[in-house]
Amino acid sequence: MRKPVIAGNWKMYKTIAEAVEFVQKLKPLVANSAHCDVVVGPPFTALRAVADAAKGSNIAVSAQDLHWDKEGAHTGDVSPAMLVDAGCTHVIIGHSERRQDHGETDANVNRKIKAALAAGLAPIVCVGETLAEREAGKTEEVLRRQFQGGFTGLTPQDFCRIIIAYEPVWAIGTGRTATPEMAAESHRYLRGLVRQQFGENLASQSRILYGGSVKPDNIESLMAQEEIDGALVGGASLKVDSFSAIVNYPRAS
Ligand code: PEP
Repeated sequence: MRKPVIAGNWKMYKTIAEAVEFVQKLKPLVANSAHCDVVVGPPFTALRAVADAAKGSNIAVSAQDLHWDKEGAHTGDVSPAMLVDAGCTHVIIGHSERRQDHGETDANVNRKIKAALAAGLAPIVCVGETLAEREAGKTEEVLRRQFQGGFTGLTPQDFCRIIIAYEPVWAIGTGRTATPEMAAESHRYLRGLVRQQFGENLASQSRILYGGSVKPDNIESLMAQEEIDGALVGGASLKVDSFSAIVNYPRAS
């Protein structure tokens, strides 16, 4: 059994006060949500305050990016140890907005994954095709390239700490969700890549999240797919009501 993960990516939203208020309101609403791991991803500035506010709860804190070096002359960057120091247990790596806006490459994703793992952080690694790539029939080719480039040189012990997020770029922030079947097809393909590189055991254990316009009204049908092990949520993670409704999606008792 793979324990689902519901993770919120707050992107460049929320001041420290807004972030802390969110967590205070979220805590009681997810206190009994033992069916899944709950993760929130505030901007760097609010990490410490959110980690303090979440202390003693079942809410884990994720950063949205990191640098692979331990320290150095990297203006504007944040190191893995700094994230741990700020109370993070997770870090999002390779989000399509980083790939598009900041020239993130698969080689950099790979360096970041290794640095995150070395610091004890659980990487949430995003992969996914653009609309043009899907329409050109290149979805699998893109996923294979991102997978092989991002996960090269990892041992099975490394890989078992990674969470994959399949995020078709055309579904992010557009209100256009992949159908559950479409998502499951890509998840199956990704799980096949895990099997090829790391073996059956890890393939069956790996948690693969779906991301792209996940909302309270579509989470149930997405989670009904055996291949889908949770969600990485952008817009709908910014409101306590919608995020807690996604965490507490209807499920068979
Ligand atoms: C995301 O940013 O990872 C995301 C999936 O955003 P949204 O849910 O808004 O599509």
